[in-house]
Amino acid sequence: MKILIVFGTRPEAIKMASLYHELQKQGFIVKVCVTAQHREMLDQVLDFFGIIPDYDLDLMQPNQTLNDLSARILFKMDHVLCEVKPDLVLVHGDTTTSSMVALAAFHKGIKIGHVEAGLRTYNKHAPFPEEINRQIISRIADIHFTPTRHATQNLLKEGVSGNGIIETGNTVIDALFWTLNKIKKKNYKNNEIDELKNSIPLQKKIILVTGHRRENFGEGFQDLCEALLAISQRKDVAIVFPVHLNPNVKGVVFELLSSKKNIYLINPVSYPAFVWLMQQSFLIVSDSGGIQEEAPSLGKPVLVTRTVSERAEGIAAGFSTLVGTDKNKIITTIQDILDNFTGFSKLQNPYGCGDASQQIVNYLLNLD
Ligand code: UDP
Repeated sequence: MKILIVFGTRPEAIKMASLYHELQKQGFIVKVCVTAQHREMLDQVLDFFGIIPDYDLDLMQPNQTLNDLSARILFKMDHVLCEVKPDLVLVHGDTTTSSMVALAAFHKGIKIGHVEAGLRTYNKHAPFPEEINRQIISRIADIHFTPTRHATQNLLKEGVSGNGIIETGNTVIDALFWTLNKIKKKNYKNNEIDELKNSIPLQKKIILVTGHRRENFGEGFQDLCEALLAISQRKDVAIVFPVHLNPNVKGVVFELLSSKKNIYLINPVSYPAFVWLMQQSFLIVSDSGGIQEEAPSLGKPVLVTRTVSERAEGIAAGFSTLVGTDKNKIITTIQDILDNFTGFSKLQNPYGCGDASQQIVNYLLNLD
């Protein structure tokens, strides 16, 4: 079976990396196409996981609109699909790349597999445009690889046939465990991690912060930064914030938090360095989906700076807490965790145990 994997952003690459290697190991013909919807952050991941794309559409442009990007993906994918003639196209999650690639494959009558299927908020504006992207893919895909029972149930409720739903856990846990194993090796050398060790006071309680959602652009990021400023007055904390490259994030964060005591603004770091940072942290503040899934395996609490999350399982299990971008709520929740958190009583990660890629490949082997 010839499989074409297509992705465009950092999180998709992290979540497809172990699947790519597992498919190759099992003898599938695998081609990789990247749209490079996020150029630099994607390249960091490709490099770390040793993936050399067969096609690099290099579509990122300054100030690209979603419509412009969508049109260019559809246009370019036509050519790639004609040339590769895959039996199956694999896309991931909820990006504009994934929904447009699924549509392009559908137009050509090619089978589509959706990895991390079935996540929902049922609020088409949050996250925007991700919720609609993932719903579009669910209408088009032939095989739906869901990470949890909850995601499976969402699809069943929408009328997706149970035969096409395979529950596997989330491939991000495969990537996380692979990376943890790699970075703990004695002979592993990483300059970025060495630099972080030298520049961050690791004896303090580290608060690791990330943010990138469109729904938080403007006021949301401003309130988050003000809350962090208030927390940074504590002498026992160091706030480490790898700032997303999107100008809507960078602008406000650097304006409000540059050169402030106990706050360390850094560029987005490579995946192994970020995994190392998560290990060092006391708590994480983030609007990221992937981080909500990874943190339970590391025993780190996450404050989710959103009013809604499609990762309800981690919230129900007590690993993460929705705080929105309400300044006071962020401050009081962080204070409470800093002063009272002593660890989770059990660490069973609702998002999987690190064998999702193997399960996906086993299913595909039986299709062959
Ligand atoms: N991550 C990374 N470097 C960073 C920040 C995050 O490698 O500086 C990783 C993180 O561990 C997770 C993924 O990027 O696996 C999350 O990406 P993002 O938050 O951009 O997207 P989302 O998960 O919300 O789709």
